[in-house]
Parts: sequence; C-alpha cells; structure tokens
Amino acid sequence: MSTSVDRVLIVGGGLSGVSAAIALQREGIDVELVEREPVWGALGTGITLMGPAMRALKQLGVLEQCLAEGSGCSEMSLFNAEGELLHTLEIHGLLGLEWPAVGGMMRPTLHRILADTAVTQGVSVRTATSVSSLEQHPDRVDVELSDGSTESYDLVLGADGLRSQIRQLVFGIDAPQPRPLGQAVWRALLDRPASVTGEFQFYGPGLKTGFTPLGPDKMYEFLVQPVADDVLPPPEERPARMRELLSVFGGVVAEVRETITRPEQVDVRKLYWLLMPAPWYRGRVLLIGDAAHATTPQLAMGGAIALEDGIVLGELLASGGELEAVLEQFMERRYERCRMVVENSVQLSEWEKNAAEHEEDAGRLQSESFAALAAPI
Ligand SMILES: Cc1cc2nc3c(=O)[nH]c(=O)nc-3n(C[C@H](O)[C@H](O)[C@H](O)COP(=O)(O)OP(=O)(O)OC[C@H]3O[C@@H](n4cnc5c(N)ncnc54)[C@H](O)[C@@H]3O)c2cc1C
Repeated sequence: MSTSVDRVLIVGGGLSGVSAAIALQREGIDVELVEREPVWGALGTGITLMGPAMRALKQLGVLEQCLAEGSGCSEMSLFNAEGELLHTLEIHGLLGLEWPAVGGMMRPTLHRILADTAVTQGVSVRTATSVSSLEQHPDRVDVELSDGSTESYDLVLGADGLRSQIRQLVFGIDAPQPRPLGQAVWRALLDRPASVTGEFQFYGPGLKTGFTPLGPDKMYEFLVQPVADDVLPPPEERPARMRELLSVFGGVVAEVRETITRPEQVDVRKLYWLLMPAPWYRGRVLLIGDAAHATTPQLAMGGAIALEDGIVLGELLASGGELEAVLEQFMERRYERCRMVVENSVQLSEWEKNAAEHEEDAGRLQSESFAALAAPI
C-alpha cells in the first residue's frame, strides 16, 4: 500500500470518530466525517472521565473547556448501604497535581466541545449520511455514500459504534457480534446536594450505586443491576423501577431517590461487549472505538480508549511510512490495552453477580487495571 494518506473518511461522529477527526485534521490530513443521525449530537446523561480520558482530552486541547463546563475531583468516598462512610481515597490523576484526577460532565456538552473543535479545525461533516458500499483498491477506497455521491479516500475509519455497519461490510460473517452480559445500568440526572463533594460509591447487598458530579449543581447517579429484567420497563415506568431498586440504600441515596420522578431523567440499558480479534483493519479500512472494542462500564474506560484510538492514529499517520506499517503499529499500540479493558470489565461484571464472594478479587483487578492504564499510550 502506498505511503501518503491525504484524505480520510470517518464513519460515525461519536467519541472515537470526533477524536480521530481532530487528531488527523491537525496533522494536515483532509478529513470528512459522515454521521447517520440528522442532528449531530449525543444523547444520555453524564459521563465519567477517568485519568486516561482526562489525558486524552488534554491531548486534544479541550480539557480546560471540559472542566469549565463540567466538574473535576481527586477523591472518591466509599459508603455502605446505610450510607455510612467506609473510606475516602485520594485518586491519583495522570496529569499532575494541578489537574483534578477524574472528571464528570454531560455527554451532550462533551460532544459539543469536541464537535466544535473538529469543525473549527476544518473537518467537513455530513449528517444524515452513511455508507452504501465500499470498494477497496490498492491505492484507494471508493465509497458510495447514502446521499448518492461517490468519493475516493486513502483510508476509511469505521467509528460507527457497537453495531458497526462498517465492521459488517468489511469483515462480513467473520465479524463477532455484540454479546450480552445479563446486566443493566441505570443512570439518573439529579440535583447535586452540597454534601456530595466528589465521586461517591455505595455498596449494597449485590448492588452498587454511585454519584458523579457534573457541575456545581448537577450529578448523575448510576446503578448496576447485576441481573437485568428480561424486558426493560417502558420510559414512563423507569423512575419507579429505579427507586424500587435503590430502596435497599439509606443515607444520601435514600434522600435523592425521591427526586427520581421524570422519565426523561432516567436512562437504562442492557450491557453488551465486543472485542474484535486483531487486526482491526482490512486493506484501507480500520475499525476504531466501540466498533472494535466495546466494553462495559465497570472501569468507566470505554470513552477513554475510544478517544485514545484517534490520538494514536493521528500520531502514527504524522510520522509517515507505508500505510500497512502504520496500521500494524496501530494494532501493536492499541490491541493489548483495549483487550485488557474489555476482558477485565467483563470479569468485574461477572463477579458483581456474586459480589460478596469476590470483593477482594474485584478490588485487586480494578487496581491492576488502573495501574496498567496509567502507562503512556
Ligand atoms: C451504560 C454505559 C455507560 C458508560 N459510561 C461510560 C463512562 O462513564 N465513561 C467512559 O469513558 N465510557 C463510558 N461508556 C462507554 C462509552 O460510552 C463508549 O465506549 C464510547 O461512547 C464509544 O464511542 P464510539 O465513538 O466508538 O461509539 P458511539 O458513541 O456509539 O458513536 C458511534 C457514532 O456513529 C454513528 N453511526 C452509527 N452507525 C453509523 C453509520 N452506519 N453511518 C454513519 N454513522 C453511524 C452513531 O450515530 C454515533 O454517533 C459507557 C457505555 C455504556 C453502555
């Protein structure tokens, strides 16, 4: 495959796609991004930004703005189900003491900041557009887009998420499918009481809940339901169901529980995971983000590794060389790290189903994972 990558198509405008768009465009590569949704945005409540995500956002040049519009902290408090404080741990960040160790913000806000940065840098974006077909050639990929146009690119990135169409188009029947875990995660957007001073986690009988501050007045509460209901309740029944699941907790969890009343406050989804075997490319098409490695939220790292994919690819493309060699180096830098996040998250999720028996194992695996993820990318 010839050397130069001047023009890249990114399919999907989530965290991995927009990170790649910023990282490639700033290296002088001409980036086009197509997003299936008519309005380019992000749904959902809040996102927790662990150390690697904070580092990635700094590398993308948006961390200060994210913290100004979100929240940051450097300690985590652990409580029992009654709401009694067990420990307060100092969290060591990856950026030095002048930065908070972890962050939290509304997903739509994070998306807006990243999207504005990409567009300001010159990334061209087409919404309500996807790919109809791809034809690989030694020196290019010809792509027919759903708006009827046909374009040629040096490289195509499938950044189109867990149920990636590009994965299906390029890897066909060899492509693994998302696998369910039998768990669900509930998240509710709440007013933040003054007593919630940082990341709070509460351990109940077989259930874990916690708060992530999103700003001075807002936070989100997550609840991991170890064995999901067969059918998730319709939106109008979700506040009552979440309150019912939370009824085993006392203290501040019980206080805020009563404010979970509106369907639009509550998001619930079953958890799936997927790990593509290496390599994640065929010819000139590479999968990044959840399309290649979708993880569950036990380590809160899916967004971090999605952002990192774009940054690493930008660095490698900037350093030149044959495209095939660049893609091989990309796999060397990304596969093991992402495999570890996905497999350790799945293991933690399995242990959550029998939490009492695996408390120590889970603590050890979490610490080992965070230590490994602190390494440079
Ligand atoms: C319940 C839950 C909680 C989580 N919490 C956290 C957390 O706190 N912290 C964290 O770091 N991570 C978290 N994650 C993981 C994180 O959200 C994902 O890993 C991350 O968003 C993946 O980004 P992505 O860009 O690869 O995929 P996506 O975010 O899925 O983006 C894919 C984009 O592609 C578009 N698209 C799809 N198909 C097409 C197509 N055919 N053509 C064009 N466009 C297309 C979609 O509309 C979308 O915009 C969580 C995940 C879950 C499920």
